[in-house]
Amino acid sequence: MPHYEFFCHACKKLFSKTLSLADYEKGRVVCPHCGSKKVEQRWSAFTVITSKKSA
Ligand SMILES: [Zn+2]
Repeated sequence: MPHYEFFCHACKKLFSKTLSLADYEKGRVVCPHCGSKKVEQRWSAFTVITSKKSA
């Protein structure tokens, strides 16, 4: 499953989650630290490098 990285605007913490595409599209991402839905997706360098290698 794809691995996503997020930043929480409520508590200013970064976290990562492994989500199915269905869960991701439903917007069910909440911060594991404070439970806020004010999260923004971040693309990690690791993800970019991995996708380039496989392309
Ligand atoms: Zn939070």
